[in-house]
Amino acid sequence: MKELKKSTRREPVSRKKNTAEKKEQTAKKSTKKNTGKEIKKENKKDTEKGTWKSVTKERVYDPNGKVLVITYACVVLFLALAVYMGYFLQMKSEDVINNPYNAPNTDGIDPESFSDRIVRGSILASDGTVLAETTTDDAGNETRVYNYGGVFDHAVGYSSKGKTGIEAMANFYLLSSHVNLVEQAGNELAGAKNLGDSVVTTLDMELQQAAYAALGDRRGAVIAMEPDTGKILAMVSKPGYDPNTLLQDWASLTDSSNNQGQLVNRATAGLYPPGSTFKIVTALEYMREHPDDYKDFHFDCNGVYHNGDYSIKCFHSEAHGSQDFMKAFANSCNGAFSSLGLTMDLDRFHATAEELLFNNPLPLSGYSYKESSFNMKGGAGTWEVLQTSIGQGTTLITPLHNALITAAVANGGTLMKPYLLDRVVSAGGEEVKKFLPTSGGTLMTATEAANLTELMRDVVVEGTGSSVRTDAYTVAAKTGTAEFETGKETHAWFTGFAPAESPKIVVTVLVEESGSGGKIAGPIARQLFDIYMGR
Ligand SMILES: [Zn+2]
Repeated sequence: MKELKKSTRREPVSRKKNTAEKKEQTAKKSTKKNTGKEIKKENKKDTEKGTWKSVTKERVYDPNGKVLVITYACVVLFLALAVYMGYFLQMKSEDVINNPYNAPNTDGIDPESFSDRIVRGSILASDGTVLAETTTDDAGNETRVYNYGGVFDHAVGYSSKGKTGIEAMANFYLLSSHVNLVEQAGNELAGAKNLGDSVVTTLDMELQQAAYAALGDRRGAVIAMEPDTGKILAMVSKPGYDPNTLLQDWASLTDSSNNQGQLVNRATAGLYPPGSTFKIVTALEYMREHPDDYKDFHFDCNGVYHNGDYSIKCFHSEAHGSQDFMKAFANSCNGAFSSLGLTMDLDRFHATAEELLFNNPLPLSGYSYKESSFNMKGGAGTWEVLQTSIGQGTTLITPLHNALITAAVANGGTLMKPYLLDRVVSAGGEEVKKFLPTSGGTLMTATEAANLTELMRDVVVEGTGSSVRTDAYTVAAKTGTAEFETGKETHAWFTGFAPAESPKIVVTVLVEESGSGGKIAGPIARQLFDIYMGR
């Protein structure tokens, strides 16, 4: 918490010039008046009125009595003001401030007006490292400083051109102040700003930095989270931007000729064909339709599966040979999964996809994301079934959603709500609010989750997930190599968790136009697993 303390040393800044000076002069004047003589006179008057009688009897002889009375009166006023302010700030203002687009709300109150009285609080990593803070120079000019540049760009977001990421999600807390009430009231009277509360996020410094470095210059996204709590440990999207120079860079970042999409958080808003990671969904539906005999499935793969005029290739047209259900999943045999898709009840398949939150909102509030889509229904043509069953076709998913499905498998079928804010602390370091893990719903039964885990474990032990195979810990995973445009390199997917028997971390990786999931995305996930499991 060393860094937190550093950030709390900021002094409140006067927002009205010379106010402090004026206050000092006023104080001097009132001190002059406070002579013992005058106090006696004042108290006598009170006695005549019949009020404060018992008190004034003692104070008549006390030259400091008046000062005490004034002090008490001031404290009462301060407290009344503080209570009012506290009530207003905490009860009335949440809706006003917590508007990501920062527009005046229906009451006509501009949320930006809160930044006139509060110095925006800091955003901290889970270990207390300051990721974003507001510094104030001698002239009272404030600057939002992002200490790690682009490393946390999308996760933390920005607050200068509208608000995104955690800057948007935590806007209310950052513009609320829980410095002690007397100090708050004093600052208010003196025209000085109060220090806003800080938010301690769930983001893990080491994992975030490792994910950022591992992705390198490639475009894509990495998400790491705890399946049993929902805590997001790392969220990286590339390419990104430097939040410190956002205003200067804005024109080029938003230029119509710029097709890099640096401002898009690919982790939450990038929609991609899921490729073979979707075989988790296809396998689940097949197991639901064949709960007792799904392992009896058999397919002979010669590298290309033909059905009428259609043909589905396995990766590099590799012939997988004789495949049962477990092997077909481990080897990610496209022919096997396309063919079993044709045997399934497509309306039930659609329902299963929607139970896994396709075409539905994710249990994530206050943070911008896109919904995934799954279109295939009963009556779909053969080609659509062949494609959809292996994660091609029109199905689209975000890396975040893929991480959540994986997390539900890892957590026995229950999806914990993903979250990024661990707690809110006052500028003085006191905890104001703590966020606790909550369930985001049951996506599948515990038995189904266990069966999928068994399949995903085999992917690593003997299938396409060899890049995360190690003796140090166990991993269950699925790779994906998604085609998205003829003639272009495939997107590489990896989604998995460790340890397989008591999952503590989920890692999902998507690398655009880079090759196969096993070769490109797997090694990135491996780095995060190594760090986390090495602790
Ligand atoms: Zn095959």
